[in-house]
Amino acid sequence: MTSTLDTGAREDRVNPVMLRLAFDAAVDQLTQPGLHVVARDNGDLDRATSPCLLDQLAVATQPGHERTGGASPGSRPPASLNALTLVAEISQALRVALAALGYNLFGPGPRTTLTQQVQLWASHAEQWQLEHVDYLAHATREAERWVAAGRAILDPAPTYRLRGHACPTCGHSAVLMWSVTEGEWLRQPALSIDTDRAEAVCAACDSRWGLDFWAQLGQLLEQQQAETLALDCE
Ligand SMILES: [Zn+2]
Repeated sequence: MTSTLDTGAREDRVNPVMLRLAFDAAVDQLTQPGLHVVARDNGDLDRATSPCLLDQLAVATQPGHERTGGASPGSRPPASLNALTLVAEISQALRVALAALGYNLFGPGPRTTLTQQVQLWASHAEQWQLEHVDYLAHATREAERWVAAGRAILDPAPTYRLRGHACPTCGHSAVLMWSVTEGEWLRQPALSIDTDRAEAVCAACDSRWGLDFWAQLGQLLEQQQAETLALDCE
């Protein structure tokens, strides 16, 4: 049973049609604008479009657009540095690939964007599917890796917020935080888990607790909740 499944997975991987689907899906994510539905506090749904992944990465390489994600500045390199490294890597790979296809990116005429270069490169996928399946497999792996790396830079690991609890040190239960995606100040729980450093952190007073203290904090929070429930009952 297991060996049958394994064989099937391997065949999918070298099946030119399946490879082409995977390649097109990755290229779409890199070059097509995204559509998002944002729920407002009053229950209304707003539709918003966002630039494609490559354009977002290009913006993230510019100074002043660093997004470190989470309430822990300095705990990881600025997003702009990671974005710059990835954009340089993609540019270099495309320069080689497009030169091999006979394009001269440095010739006269307007400078092509990275998005246009990926589209130019991907316009040869039909030919690879029919004649160069090995190259299509390589191109798919590369494009999928760029998507994964880009997403990791633009959407860092989520912060887990501890809703409805007050900080044992300063007593705050909420703070106002600027949301890059919403473009406005949002009320957020003060306590959250910093997944990078495996710590609980208060955004109001910047107190931090390591995992050794986490069990004790859990008991404190449970106690708070019990008191709140007791008050609610009165
Ligand atoms: Zn606090």
